[in-house]
Amino acid sequence: MLDLEALLRSRIVDVPDFPTPGVVFKDISPLLADHVAFAGAVDAVVAFHGRGTIDKVVGIEARGFLLAAPVAYQFGAGFVPVRKPGKLPLATLETSYDLEYGSNVLQMHEGALQPGERVLVVDDVLATGGTAAAACRLVREAGAEVVGLSVLLELGFLEGRALLHQAEPDLEVHALLQT
Ligand code: AMP
Repeated sequence: MLDLEALLRSRIVDVPDFPTPGVVFKDISPLLADHVAFAGAVDAVVAFHGRGTIDKVVGIEARGFLLAAPVAYQFGAGFVPVRKPGKLPLATLETSYDLEYGSNVLQMHEGALQPGERVLVVDDVLATGGTAAAACRLVREAGAEVVGLSVLLELGFLEGRALLHQAEPDLEVHALLQT
């Protein structure tokens, strides 16, 4: 029988000092290039929540898109991108969040989500939790319900889950792998 967790772990590569010194970048491109690992990850996210439970999957730029789109397809749900400023062509909702130095902005098309829709947010890595919390804010601003966050990998030592639960106490956070 396939040990999915071991397979996924073996397909995520640590890249020290990328993109800046001191950061260990978790490169998921070998996982995406392995069709068994890629399909296994997508199917595991869908199985965790169950088909028919999600109306829309929100993917976070950029690697989040690569997982969120096939997850949405397998759910029979729609896909909605959350992007950095200047990428979405129509009117947007936007929110900002603090980084160690400076801040980031995320945007989502107005009207991409309908009030009351059940939304799963998907990204590749949960680090400090700021990005995921911002995406959840956009979903709620649109009047939709965030039913969960699914990530491939949670960097546990950064305690992003705790930050997320301060902002979103009822959010179900699901990580296929944890460090
Ligand atoms: P954060 O807001 O700190 O939780 O950061 C999460 C976002 O940054 C995700 O969209 C990830 O793609 C990216 N990210 C943060 N840390 C890493 C890392 N060590 N390796 C790969 N991606 C990361």
